[in-house]
Amino acid sequence: MGKEKIILTGDRPTGRLHIGHYVGSLKRRVELQNSGLYDKTFIFIADAQALTDNIENPEKVRQNVIEVALDYMAVGLDPTKSTIFIQSQIPELCELTFYYMDLVTVSRLQRNPTVKTEIQMRNFETSIPVGFFTYPISQAADITAFKATTVPVGEDQEPMIEQTREIVRRFNHIYGDTLVEPEILLPDNAACLRLPGTDGKAKMSKSLGNCIYLSDTADEVEKKVKSMYTDPTHLKVSDPGKLEGNTVFTYLDAFCKPEHFGRYLPDYPDLNELKAHYTRGGLGDMKVKKFLAAIMQEELTPIRERRKEFEKDIPAIYEMLRKGCETARATATATLDEVRKAMKINYFDDAELIAEQVKRFGQD
Ligand code: ATP
Ligand code: MG
Repeated sequence: MGKEKIILTGDRPTGRLHIGHYVGSLKRRVELQNSGLYDKTFIFIADAQALTDNIENPEKVRQNVIEVALDYMAVGLDPTKSTIFIQSQIPELCELTFYYMDLVTVSRLQRNPTVKTEIQMRNFETSIPVGFFTYPISQAADITAFKATTVPVGEDQEPMIEQTREIVRRFNHIYGDTLVEPEILLPDNAACLRLPGTDGKAKMSKSLGNCIYLSDTADEVEKKVKSMYTDPTHLKVSDPGKLEGNTVFTYLDAFCKPEHFGRYLPDYPDLNELKAHYTRGGLGDMKVKKFLAAIMQEELTPIRERRKEFEKDIPAIYEMLRKGCETARATATATLDEVRKAMKINYFDDAELIAEQVKRFGQD
């Protein structure tokens, strides 16, 4: 068991994807997909999960399914190498979720720090939908249905992976070795673990409206970078500036490569020198922002252009997703068969069971 190396990860279709997704997960996925080190890669659009906090907004979720699919193609996810599918089209995931619910306590769910924060963000304190509250269990179903060994996600997903591992251990302990325990794969660059929003808030997030989207126009990127949160006490160019909590420098940590200096800011040899000058005083925010804007354009222009190409054939994108769902469903069905067997709820494909009962009731 567990010989194959399998990647699984996904995104909620609650908006277009942003550069937080890019550095926190997407970029890595594409590298892993192309590395040849994995036997299978599954990437999914978590529409059912998105509905748990968008119950009254199905149209929003529906529209964003295609936006996310286009973003995937634009960054280089390749349906010939990765199975790209839509969560709601795999009903087996619901069935797994239902069985896993028996393996998790309410108080365990209440302790999940990510869910706690999200409940606050959505003002759900007194009216948490049960489906939202239990989404970590449904995430365990998503991961285990595909026997994923590796889940490349941002830091906010750590509690979900831990919850999944607990469910797997509990299931295997009770019913015998069936499910595979996944490992989280976090970004190796600290700035990418949780990219802050352009407003300086701890996390860039669709729900907070502080995002630079992969599909933003060059003008939008320029404007967003120019109005980014820096150090509010750095008023005059000559003032010493702080790096901590300074979003522009966090983004430079995430995106800047040595060769960018030669191309866009030849006065400085590297990022350390730029930081040192800023801390000393004498370096204005605008100059740093211009540098960051140039780097962002270099990174985002090819993505934007590829997206434009894919937008020309939308039916082909839906067809790609349809095929992905078919493949994914076959895999999830196979796992569910094993789960049902392990849980002893496979009444009609078990010849021994009938023979046993015949004996028990003494018919000979
Ligand atoms: P929502 O506000 O709807 O939850 P989101 O922006 O948090 O949206 P998700 O779809 O929940 O995005 O997350 C998709 C993936 O992107 C996850 O792996 C998550 O860890 C990662 N991710 C999201 N935001 C960031 C960020 N700011 N920095 C790094 N990784 C991120
Ligand atoms: Mg999220």
